[in-house]
Amino acid sequence: MSEVSDSKIVNKIVEIRRKNLNKFRRDFVERPVKYWLEKDRLFNKIGSSLVVILATRGCNWALSNWGGCSMCGYVYDAPITVPDSKSLIKQFELAYESSISAKSPLAIKIFTSGSFFDEMEVPKTARESILNKIAADERIEELIVETRPEYVNYEILSQCREILGEIYFEVAIGLETSNDNIRNYYINKGFELKDFERAVFMAKNTGVGVKSYILIKPLFLREGEAIIDSISSAIDSFKIGVNSISFNPCTVHRGTLVEYLWKLGKYRPPWLWSIIEILKKTSKNLNSERRIICSLVGIGSKKGPHNCGKCDKQIRKLLNEFTLTQSPEVLLNMECDCKQEWLDYCEEEFI
Ligand code: SF4
Ligand SMILES: [Zn+2]
Repeated sequence: MSEVSDSKIVNKIVEIRRKNLNKFRRDFVERPVKYWLEKDRLFNKIGSSLVVILATRGCNWALSNWGGCSMCGYVYDAPITVPDSKSLIKQFELAYESSISAKSPLAIKIFTSGSFFDEMEVPKTARESILNKIAADERIEELIVETRPEYVNYEILSQCREILGEIYFEVAIGLETSNDNIRNYYINKGFELKDFERAVFMAKNTGVGVKSYILIKPLFLREGEAIIDSISSAIDSFKIGVNSISFNPCTVHRGTLVEYLWKLGKYRPPWLWSIIEILKKTSKNLNSERRIICSLVGIGSKKGPHNCGKCDKQIRKLLNEFTLTQSPEVLLNMECDCKQEWLDYCEEEFI
């Protein structure tokens, strides 16, 4: 854990977490949290993705005495009874069945709302079985799993690489920002940039790709500061050697410090204009070895990234088009009366 975390923020996060863990969690129902098929951006082409959120014991960081990240409520999806290897394999198979009719090229994205490489969440037997199933399916061109950097090591990377053969394998890590102070004071992420760099280095040496999640507008950043932070974090991530960037505009999850401050009127999720600005600036760094993805979660809702309400739907469509085509041109001609309001908001917040 970083020494730079502010103890008041950590205490509040822990207090909120403890209160809500018992309130929100349900017992295990032998199914993944969610799974679905979607049209998606694969490396250099458009294809489909099967997205699976496995129900595991939950993120170790969120369950620890540090309480986890200030914006994250995914741990409440973790069931009270911990699913074993057999259950995890069953969960994956259930989701996998739903992709049987999907055509190639297909990507599989496995989320655990924690770390796929943490063996307390996904034991080795479950991991191997899931990877073997994927490796045997000729339609699958990519596998993406998410993990915190402390679980990345040569042994696990080489084992995955070996089982997956030709399939492009990418590890997604929630860097959130390349600024250590913002990551540890405001997000309570609990790792340093050097931990991320170490994980990227090992992945590169093993022929594994890396995706960096960047959080747009962490707590306590003004709108304008958040834009600058996301742009510099993306540029830094590319310099470190990541293959993909996924911008995650902050949404208000239940049972989090973000929700607590949002209810007090002290937090507003990012404007969609800010997201457009960030994508326009960072897409200058795109090339055939890199991709930039923008998460659409919560867009247009009060608890999610939003504009005035009139232009949100159209911008959501354009952001999706940007992700699929990787063409910043699609973002150029959007206009709405609320753009001036956003500009004033950015300026006022700077004063
Ligand atoms: S953002 Fe990731 S690391 Fe942080 S609490 Fe949520 S799942 Fe855990
Ligand atoms: Zn508008």
